[in-house]
Amino acid sequence: MKSVVELHNIGMKYQSLNGEIPALKNINLKVREGEFVSTVGPSGCGKSTLLSIVSGLLRPTSGSVLVDGEMVTGPTKKIGYMLQKDHLFDWRTIYQNVLLGLEIQKAVTPEAREYAQRLLKTYGLSEFSHKYPSQLSGGMRQRAALIRTLVTNPQILLLDEAFSALDYQTRLAVNDDIYDIIKKENKTAIMVTHDIAESISMADRVIVLTRRPGAIKSCHNITFSVDKRTPLSSRKMPEFQKYFEQIWKELDVHV
Ligand code: ADP
Ligand code: MG
Repeated sequence: MKSVVELHNIGMKYQSLNGEIPALKNINLKVREGEFVSTVGPSGCGKSTLLSIVSGLLRPTSGSVLVDGEMVTGPTKKIGYMLQKDHLFDWRTIYQNVLLGLEIQKAVTPEAREYAQRLLKTYGLSEFSHKYPSQLSGGMRQRAALIRTLVTNPQILLLDEAFSALDYQTRLAVNDDIYDIIKKENKTAIMVTHDIAESISMADRVIVLTRRPGAIKSCHNITFSVDKRTPLSSRKMPEFQKYFEQIWKELDVHV
């Protein structure tokens, strides 16, 4: 299958008052169409930096990013970005929030409105479309944030610790929800997290990063002996523990 995202020798150094901060080193990665790749690494190892570079918001110091075979030189509509905080605006209804990305792109067409309505309906939020964010649970807000990202129809989704603000129970449910939506809408996803379990439960492939400057330490293809995996069912599989122990050792969480 063809690669939709290719990273070639990405390196990143920040300039600060105390000198240079090397954040990423020699990152080479190809992500296939429809694949869910998760990158785990200790805090501060350069995960957010990596996603910002893929999104085109940040220029790497060295190397290049290709999306669909084209060099990324700035933000592209092919990419949707989801962050830890849902960034919903409290004074806009859910529906108005969902349309925000389209408004920014000046792309609010009748078809786009219809697509927004369909996504809200399919993913259980149509009853809440005229409510305000404060009237929704954390999990629903996160779903609304994902729908807002999907409405502009990006091919690739970037998720930066997108669930870490949620409590544990909600988080498990939202993992299942979001995974289901990403698969149904046939998106390619790159997620970064420091949570090993979340990573294994959602991804087709887990990439382990070293401490800063983040470099690729290892890659794991994640497969389970069930027909239709979900993040929650994956967590219960015997293979899960095996992957967890392996990645835990590699992550070297002890200082
Ligand atoms: P992670 O997401 O894995 O926690 P980040 O990508 O946010 O890591 O940051 C990687 C390293 O780069 C950290 O040491 C951080 O302090 C540093 N860093 C991030 N952004 C900047 C910046 N704008 N200027 C200087 N240093 C930065
Ligand atoms: Mg981060």
